[in-house]
Amino acid sequence: MFIAHLPAGYLLSRPFARRNPLQARAIFSTGLLCSVLPDFDLVYFYLIDQRRTPHHDYWVHTPIFWLVAAAAIAFLLIAAGRRNQLVLVAVGLLSVLLHLVMDSIAADIRWFFPFADLRVNLVHVQAVYKPWYLNFLLHWTFALELMIWLVAGYLGVRDFRKPRATGTGAA
Ligand SMILES: [Zn+2]
Repeated sequence: MFIAHLPAGYLLSRPFARRNPLQARAIFSTGLLCSVLPDFDLVYFYLIDQRRTPHHDYWVHTPIFWLVAAAAIAFLLIAAGRRNQLVLVAVGLLSVLLHLVMDSIAADIRWFFPFADLRVNLVHVQAVYKPWYLNFLLHWTFALELMIWLVAGYLGVRDFRKPRATGTGAA
C-alpha cells in the first residue's frame, strides 16, 4: 500500500491509547512511527542500492526480524523493571506487522524468511499505465487506502474536538 500506513497506524494505536490515557502520546508516537518504519528502507533503496533489489526484499520487510527485535526490547524492558513500557513494544510490533499485512496485498512479502521463501502477494496489480505509480493509483486497492484515511480522519477529528471527560488518569 502507498498512503494508508499512517492512518492505519493511528487506528491501531487508538484503542491502546484510550486504555492507557497517561501513555497516550507515547503510544500514538510509537504506533505512527512504526506504521511507516519498514519503508525507511526506501532511503537505502534509492541512495545506496541504486534500485537493484526490490525494497520489499530487505530484512526490514520481513516479520520474523521484527518479532525478534520486539522480543529483545521487551526482555530488556522487563530486566530494567520498566514493564509499563511493554505496551509501547506491543503497539510498535503490531503496527509494523500491520504494515507488512497491508504490503502483502499488492507486493511480495516473505512472511517466513529466513526459514522459507514463500511470498505473499494477494493482488497482482497489472502494469497498464505509465508512469508506474498510476497502476496503483487507478487500482481498486487505492480506494481501500482512501477509505482508511477517511475513517482515521473522521475519528481523529472527533477525538480532537471531544473534551477529555473520561481521562481521570487512574492508570
Ligand atoms: Zn512497506
